[in-house]
Amino acid sequence: MWQVVGQNRAVSLLQISLAKGTLAHAYLFIGPQHVGKMTLALNLAQALNCEAAEPPCGVCSSCQKIASAKHADVQVIGLASADLTEGKPRAEISIDQIREAQHSANLPPFEGKYKIFIIDGAEFLSHEAANCLLKTLEEPPERVVFVLLTTNARLLPATVVSRCQRLDLSLIAASEVETTLNTRWGVAFDKAKLLARLCHGCLGWAIQAALDDGLLQQRAERLEKLLDIMGAGYEERFAYAAKLAEQFSQNRGRVQEVLDLWLDWWRDLMLTKVGCCDMITNADYAATLTDWARSLSLTEIRLFMADIQAVGEQLRQNASPRLALEVLMLNMPKRKEGVLVKHG
Ligand SMILES: [Zn+2]
Repeated sequence: MWQVVGQNRAVSLLQISLAKGTLAHAYLFIGPQHVGKMTLALNLAQALNCEAAEPPCGVCSSCQKIASAKHADVQVIGLASADLTEGKPRAEISIDQIREAQHSANLPPFEGKYKIFIIDGAEFLSHEAANCLLKTLEEPPERVVFVLLTTNARLLPATVVSRCQRLDLSLIAASEVETTLNTRWGVAFDKAKLLARLCHGCLGWAIQAALDDGLLQQRAERLEKLLDIMGAGYEERFAYAAKLAEQFSQNRGRVQEVLDLWLDWWRDLMLTKVGCCDMITNADYAATLTDWARSLSLTEIRLFMADIQAVGEQLRQNASPRLALEVLMLNMPKRKEGVLVKHG
């Protein structure tokens, strides 16, 4: 049974190729973080090496070894698997990692039927590593399948993309995430419902948040900070802009996460304002949202949403983070006089 959830189109395509024996030598799975790319890649590896009549069975020794990352013929190559350089994680997948995989690809499978090389975060392949990989993709060895995973195919060389069969993974419906969390992971209904909204179609995030309270705690802290800033004067807002700009220099992704959270919040304010409260993401903050929506106009909300999106784009284009974030703080609408209802 294929474990991956909500990817029926991709699964049936792979099943047909397996049944007809028309499998590609290289696949490119594209989709946002936590949507199920790695799960699908591991399922494919299981399907190729499974010992049962209807692969992947999930219970034979091959399937189990692959699930627990102990199968000698299934290798994951990525930033996490790279050796640490001076104690810091690498920023690129190096040519050495690809050379090592190539060497191994030229030897027959050790214990299974196929060798599978999963390149996690293929957009991080260095220029040299991508060129080196291209040679293998052009002349693939027998019984070897490469599976490249990426959030954005445009960040990969077109020559590499053109050598792979492309599979776009879909965002998973909130109702399906909710049911999966409840039935497979035993998450209580209320929590499953909230996580299904917060994960934006990426089940992996919801599972991680269900297993580790840290993610929800971090979200609560970020939302409280946003509420503080919305009620604060310019001095405090600019101090926060400076802090975010400093964070940006160390970890761009984290600042983008904050901006994404803000955009969700302001979208929720818009939905609340127009009476579509059932559609909000931050359902556990419904009362606070109603309170804030009362004190802001729809135009103010709409304009600020556009501002948040614009800053995200400016940061991607290497604008000065401090300036962009300061302007954002300046543009954030001020709450009109009223009683502040805090969450909790
Ligand atoms: Zn099996």
